Amino acid sequence: MHVIIMGGGIAGLSQALSLHQIGVACRVYEAVPNLAPLGYGINLQPNAIRELTALGLGEKLAAAGVITKELAFYNKHGQLIWTEPRGRGAGYRWPQISISRGELHRILLAAIHQRLGGDAVVTGHRLTSIETRGEKVMARFADPSGHPVGEAEGDILIGADGIHSAVRQHFYKGEKAVFDGFLHYRGIVEAPPYLTGASMAVVGHRTHRAILYPVMQRPGGKVMINWLAYTKIPPGSPPLEAWDTAADKQACVDRFQGWSYPWLDVHGLFAATPAEHVLQLPNVDRDPIPRWSFGRVTLIGDAAHPMQPVGAQAGSQAVVDGRVLAASLMAVRDPVEALTRYQNERIAAMNDMIVRNRNLGLESILQTAEERAPGGFQHIHDVLSQEELENTAASFKKAAGFDVETVNSRHSFVDRPSP
Ligand SMILES: Cc1cc2nc3c(=O)[nH]c(=O)nc-3n(C[C@H](O)[C@H](O)[C@H](O)COP(=O)(O)OP(=O)(O)OC[C@H]3O[C@@H](n4cnc5c(N)ncnc54)[C@H](O)[C@@H]3O)c2cc1C
Repeated sequence: MHVIIMGGGIAGLSQALSLHQIGVACRVYEAVPNLAPLGYGINLQPNAIRELTALGLGEKLAAAGVITKELAFYNKHGQLIWTEPRGRGAGYRWPQISISRGELHRILLAAIHQRLGGDAVVTGHRLTSIETRGEKVMARFADPSGHPVGEAEGDILIGADGIHSAVRQHFYKGEKAVFDGFLHYRGIVEAPPYLTGASMAVVGHRTHRAILYPVMQRPGGKVMINWLAYTKIPPGSPPLEAWDTAADKQACVDRFQGWSYPWLDVHGLFAATPAEHVLQLPNVDRDPIPRWSFGRVTLIGDAAHPMQPVGAQAGSQAVVDGRVLAASLMAVRDPVEALTRYQNERIAAMNDMIVRNRNLGLESILQTAEERAPGGFQHIHDVLSQEELENTAASFKKAAGFDVETVNSRHSFVDRPSP
């Protein structure tokens, strides 16, 4: 069997490693001409680290990132609403790791080159069309200038080509991304550690929010802090399509005036970020779809379930998709049946996650606190009961498939020795 994977992002590369682990040949086709390690911070939850450890990458990821100890929510006055331990401290057998997306991508790509060979990832190949011919799937490609650069044939085609997936467009023609009118500024800056030194902090509420977490240890005890600032898009702004375009740093800093707390000077951190390290992206996702698998073609990662960046899920769920797909190919001989089995195992939970994230998921307690006590509170339990707080946190983790019991009690989806 030969599998062709469209897209060399987190989903595509981790899928290739899982297929190699089960002895299925594959090749990844990526649109960009050079696969540079791009992106700022990303989180890998214990359910994904468990799978990446089964792929033999756990130690490398831990060394390159930060083992997250805590998730903490604050209102815009800097008052603590909720805190919970993360990873091993919460009872998981695996950690949560906050890491630079570029580092994660570099580690996956290096493992592919080592295990599958230098030609396993073909760059400068943008998918332009798909055709099923009997028991084969054909993919055609163009180079970055739009000129055709040939075709590839496989028994299965996996669309791992991200939120603007061409594979998804093939089945859902004219479907558009959903933009909620809000903007994310994204930045990365070297600074002294705050709180536990490995805390993910979420501050504010639905329409005005900051998310911060360290992603890398630096010499001299400092850390690289990744931050996201979520705010209403300024009137008259041009339409935003792309990931990570240059941003007006001062506009972002001004919006967070006064966000300076004893535990962290958020405003000061934004102001200290070099302007060239502040980017912007539109807050987009897509509506849930009823099918991912069509005969010998399927979708994984953001191509299948692009979601708003709430609850730090996109990277982890992309990894899990690839593992469940590999497990289905091991369990069922017929590829069409295997792809349906994979879809049926994942689609309901991921569609639910898209909707939950539009409603702020786990972070919805920030919005409740803002609505009930916009001026702050004496004690959080005057605003939100312990039961409400615990239930919101537990329900999100259960729905996303990374509650302690689920993760600790099952085998890896691909129960094979690590390569
Ligand atoms: C440049 C970049 C930077 C990012 N930075 C961050 C970040 O800092 N933090 C964060 O949380 N998330 C970031 N993300 C998104 C994050 O990687 C995903 O949400 C998540 O990891 C799921 O991964 P994915 O592989 O499904 O999608 P992606 O990681 O987006 O990968 C999709 C890949 O498909 C390729 N592709 C697209 N169209 C085609 C086509 N027609 N033919 C062939 N290849 C195609 C893209 O070039 C890309 O490499 C970034 C994504 C990109 C592309």
